Amino acid sequence: MKIMVTGAAGFIGSNFVHYIADKYDDYEIVVLDKLTYAGDMHNLDNVDVKFIKGDIASQKDASEAMKDADYVVNFAAETHVDKSITDPASFVKSDVLGTQNLLELVRKYDVERYIQISTDEVYGSILNGSFKETDNIDPSSPYSASKAGGDLLVSAYYKTYDIPVIITRSSNNFGPRQFPEKLIPLFILKALKDQPLPVYGDGKNVRDWIYVEDNCAGVDTVLQKGKIGEVYNIGGGNEKNNLEITKMILEKLNKPESLIQHVDDRLGHDRRYSLDATKTQKLGWKPKWTFEDAMQNTVDWYKQNAERLYPKVETL
Ligand code: NAD
Repeated sequence: MKIMVTGAAGFIGSNFVHYIADKYDDYEIVVLDKLTYAGDMHNLDNVDVKFIKGDIASQKDASEAMKDADYVVNFAAETHVDKSITDPASFVKSDVLGTQNLLELVRKYDVERYIQISTDEVYGSILNGSFKETDNIDPSSPYSASKAGGDLLVSAYYKTYDIPVIITRSSNNFGPRQFPEKLIPLFILKALKDQPLPVYGDGKNVRDWIYVEDNCAGVDTVLQKGKIGEVYNIGGGNEKNNLEITKMILEKLNKPESLIQHVDDRLGHDRRYSLDATKTQKLGWKPKWTFEDAMQNTVDWYKQNAERLYPKVETL
């Protein structure tokens, strides 16, 4: 099997490539990544891949990576909500036009399965209950709107051209190899230096957290067993607010809560995300990690890699 994985110098894509390489002896892995600020070749240390530096929105780059591929998994995207508020155009280019370019090539090449990696953020905020795959999408930020645009193109290409596509929507991932602009790695690295941890608003915004390895297993389950044309939610079932996460990090690092600093809330900040992952569980998947063990692993990993990663915090 030849599998093309886009965005695999980034957080989830690189964890997915490690997961696939460990699980399947006979997979040939081709990575296409533009190496934006969020990409890091160290994320691909110790894994055997053919790496192509290129843009999913470029026909030439994506053709080179996709020809002969049996499977395509598209993780490549601009992903930081705050950046999407100041620079929305780059999100539309990668997350909407990049997706459309890949879909055109799926039409052209003999790809067996194309998986579009999406997010719970496309559903928008929910105060009670959890989103199912059949719920309407109602994104709030330029990031989630761009991801929703990609999802709509995937569905439209399925209906119009009958190509073999599936969408996964996961909740907030955490774990090793995440760029430290995101909450958990940022706060671990800052706390290690006794720096203030900037918590948006009252810190009560709730996210459903999933350990990255569990999401990778979910994506693989959908890749192997999912039904073409469908959407699958992959949620961890760990709903925590930002203040709870922050306090847990401080406790694990033995640092004082006085490092918490409340700052102005993010514009359009969704209050709560929550996913119903029953449909994916029916394929035989469920999260393996407890939240406690996964957080301990994550904190330990950033402690071990702090010297290499902290300079990235200084670029923010
Ligand atoms: P990331 O920002 O860590 O990595 C993104 C990678 O994509 C980087 O290596 C970057 O260089 C590459 N990239 C960006 N634009 C590209 C382009 N035009 N062409 C080729 N490569 C490009 O992202 P992540 O957190 O690993 O997220 C991966 C995917 O999962 C995204 O599609 C994101 O929307 C989705 N997702 C993420 C989360 C999360 O909690 N991180 C949750 C749900 C869904």
